[in-house]
Amino acid sequence: MKYVSRSDWGAKYGRGPTNITPQRGGVAIHWEGPKMGTFPHSSCDDKVRGIERFHVQSNGWDGIAYTLLVCPHGYVFEGRGLGRRTAANGTNDSNQRYYAICALIGKGDAVPEALLDGMRDGVAYLRDHDAGNDVKPHSAFFSTECPGDRLRKWISGGTGGGDGGGGGGGGKAPAWPGVYLKHPPPTEHSSARTWQSRMRQRGWTISVDGVYGPQSKEVCIKFQREKGLDADGIVGPATWKATWTSPVT
Ligand SMILES: [Zn+2]
Ligand SMILES: [Zn+2]
Repeated sequence: MKYVSRSDWGAKYGRGPTNITPQRGGVAIHWEGPKMGTFPHSSCDDKVRGIERFHVQSNGWDGIAYTLLVCPHGYVFEGRGLGRRTAANGTNDSNQRYYAICALIGKGDAVPEALLDGMRDGVAYLRDHDAGNDVKPHSAFFSTECPGDRLRKWISGGTGGGDGGGGGGGGKAPAWPGVYLKHPPPTEHSSARTWQSRMRQRGWTISVDGVYGPQSKEVCIKFQREKGLDADGIVGPATWKATWTSPVT
């Protein structure tokens, strides 16, 4: 990994609090937002310092919000770093359970292979320490365009990013929780949230609220038809497994 530490890039502010449980989640992927265009690697330090300044002076945070930042040249910049709570994910729960990696690209920018290599390095580095295996786009937690369609697709495995991105199809399913998700009446259970969030990651429009109601059922039936499963609208062991292992189409 081409690592750039805080002292290498000249961090000036804090690293944030330590109360986190990333082993119960994983890594959230972000972009910088506005179009950044192309720039030489010699200007990357300056861009990271600019983001830090903005997060502290305009947002009032302790320091730069992200755990790591990856430039289009594939370098991995230490943001808050390991063991620190990010301020980037948009909700308390996701800041508690997910680290945050920001790609230094924005709307309309290309997604260079070097950047994806750096993103994979960053995810692997966090997993080697205390992050869980889950990788989600920022938009899975919060209504936002971030990290853009191309990175979202990469995360769901659509552009060959499956390894670093937590798997498109062909991944390993978590153990079936033993609860049939069905409606009516709605099923309220933590596994409903897990399933909904995975379905959203696969590209379905679905609320991730932990309640398996009419919308979840409708999505489930479409998914079951698409995958040749029994289209009963109930998430049992077979549908649960297919949610992780069948190819994203
Ligand atoms: Zn974001
Ligand atoms: Zn760079």
